[in-house]
Amino acid sequence: MGTLSGLFAPDRIAVVGATDRDGSVGRAIMRNLQSGFDGTVLPVNPGRETVFGEPALDSVGDADADLAVVVVPPDAVVPVVREAGEAGVRSVVVITAGFGEAGTDGAARESELIEVATEYGIDLVGPNSLGIMSTPVGMNATFGPEDATPGGLSFMSQSGAFITAVLDWANEQGLGFNDVVSLGNKAVLDESDFVEAWGDDDGTEVVIGYLEGISDGDAFIRTARAVTPETPVVVVKSGRTDAGAQAASSHTGTIAGSEQAYEAGLDQAGVIRADSVQELFDAARVLEGQPLPDSDTVAVVTNAGGPGVMTTDAVGDSGLSMASLTDDTLEALSASLPAEGNIYNPVDVVGDADNDRFRSAVDVVLGDDSVGSVIVLACPTAVLDYEQLARDTVDLQADHGKPVAACLMGGARVDQAEDALSAAGIPNYFDPARAVYGLDTLAEYRSITEREYEAPAAFDVDRERAEDVLSSAVDRDNTRLGVEAMGLLDAYGIPTPDGEVVDTPEAAADVAARIDGDVVMKVVSPDILHKSDVGGVEVGVADGEVADTYADLVARARRYQPDATILGVQVQEMVDLDDGVETIVGMNRDPQFGPLVVFGLGGIFVEILADTTARVAPVSQPEAEAMTREIDAAPLLRGARGRDPVDVDATVETIQRLSQLVTDFPAILELDINPLVATPDGVAAVDVRLTVDPDQL
Ligand code: ADP
Ligand code: MG
Repeated sequence: MGTLSGLFAPDRIAVVGATDRDGSVGRAIMRNLQSGFDGTVLPVNPGRETVFGEPALDSVGDADADLAVVVVPPDAVVPVVREAGEAGVRSVVVITAGFGEAGTDGAARESELIEVATEYGIDLVGPNSLGIMSTPVGMNATFGPEDATPGGLSFMSQSGAFITAVLDWANEQGLGFNDVVSLGNKAVLDESDFVEAWGDDDGTEVVIGYLEGISDGDAFIRTARAVTPETPVVVVKSGRTDAGAQAASSHTGTIAGSEQAYEAGLDQAGVIRADSVQELFDAARVLEGQPLPDSDTVAVVTNAGGPGVMTTDAVGDSGLSMASLTDDTLEALSASLPAEGNIYNPVDVVGDADNDRFRSAVDVVLGDDSVGSVIVLACPTAVLDYEQLARDTVDLQADHGKPVAACLMGGARVDQAEDALSAAGIPNYFDPARAVYGLDTLAEYRSITEREYEAPAAFDVDRERAEDVLSSAVDRDNTRLGVEAMGLLDAYGIPTPDGEVVDTPEAAADVAARIDGDVVMKVVSPDILHKSDVGGVEVGVADGEVADTYADLVARARRYQPDATILGVQVQEMVDLDDGVETIVGMNRDPQFGPLVVFGLGGIFVEILADTTARVAPVSQPEAEAMTREIDAAPLLRGARGRDPVDVDATVETIQRLSQLVTDFPAILELDINPLVATPDGVAAVDVRLTVDPDQL
């Protein structure tokens, strides 16, 4: 193991605050370490002569330790860690609670702890951690009641209590662990550090995590991307923060909460997201035990019609599809199955099938090149021996090298068969949906291993002009900008229709005269969020009506909000909506992941339709392209019901240009282009709204 080897493969561990006092955490840790650790355990406690018969040291500085586990009272932690640092200890686990999670005093203490760890370059776990484990060196440096069984899973958890529950359960399930870490408050080391370390570690087959948040989304994406093609990472994430959504004053802000950010961020990191604890371990088990499929097609072999249909339904709901078997396979099956059987997928070997018939059908199907993976699905019958079926399944899986999941349904009668399967890394489930989930996860992971991350494009833009537009807003003491900031988009090469903001009816008429055909007029006010809600947009205004319309728009706005600051009226070229699709391209800043770029169906009903997708910026060309395919309305863009397809390339480019804009300017807190009208001839940003943080300009 490379990085963090001081934590997971130490020779000498000092337990600072070790004691044999009944019921204490210091005692529990000593006991757990003494019960199996390959190296030396050194109790440190100036108040005691011995701990469990070992002479106790006065100071961590006397221990010559690789790793210090600290269980002293909160006030003593920082001095102890400093002493450890001075003595050359570079790995520390702080078990003690009473830091960031405990009010302002605790937060101050945590800041000091971070300072000391940084000063000495200490890899520090916690504080407020249950501890860590590493089975290759027999180390259980936790105060939990359970030991981990050795195995290939490395597990990080933001909840220490959850670790003890998982270990208790996993031992019974035959799941084994390499390293386990209770992340605690993540003051220094966080999920990114462990993903990186485990990606480098031969003993880790699969990384699994229970996370409540991600400390630094950007770092996490970068780190995980380097690891996930080689080592699968599965995470269950709980807890939602509203920090981003609270202040939202744009459509994107309302749509793109932290949930979308996690969804997008984890996906971009190549991390598989489990929706429940069950999924987390189902995914972990199959990823550890089974090879990856060559394709997303699955075949089902069963002796029971009903469960076969259930399985087919579950496949339909997943990313997998039912394989269409080749003619050779169908021929072989029809030779070996009775007439009432079904040779098509799901293959039904019929309820009276004995082990031989079942086995030969599984063999034939596994040998079919059009089959990516196989589900062996059975109900108990008098002529079928489950243990034999399990042994056959294990042999055939090994022969063909394709992933297999088993559903030998039943209760106690399955136990022996299940053990045989599980020993060979084949998961067995009662519920076919879980078998499908497992194989679907393998297919998802295969696609992650095949990903090629492309660098985001760097378009030639006028950054200075964009900065001017933003600064001029600040001059007016105005943090919310509307169409008066159109120049910002133009500076970044995002097409906008011809138009101008003016502050007299006469000037409006002049602009309209310059523009071909009818125009659109919009009231411009930082106090009016959605202009059409207050009758502030007039579409198709003829030249002769421009001056009157100007007066109407201002009057309506005044009626709506008498004290509104009205900057004027925008006179804008008409965009042909008949052949166009109104889309939205926007950005909201997530506290963890940073700028989240959103694309979807736009117009005035965006929030109701909520047909959007998101990526953490910077967004590359393939990612932007994928976004245009992901929304439900994607067929509209590519020409549906006799309509011409819109210029998708221009849409994709706009997403990337917006991504570049919001990456270049952290001062832009949120931004909507709604609508970005996509037509067969290109795109036009007809409306823009953004919020700026003047302090960041
Ligand atoms: P708001 O979102 O503040 O109500 P918009 O500028 O987005 O204001 O205008 C509302 C709607 O009016 C748009 O969704 C679009 O349907 C239509 N619209 C606005 N500008 C134009 C334009 N230049 N050409 C055609 N239709 C437009
Ligand atoms: Mg709009």
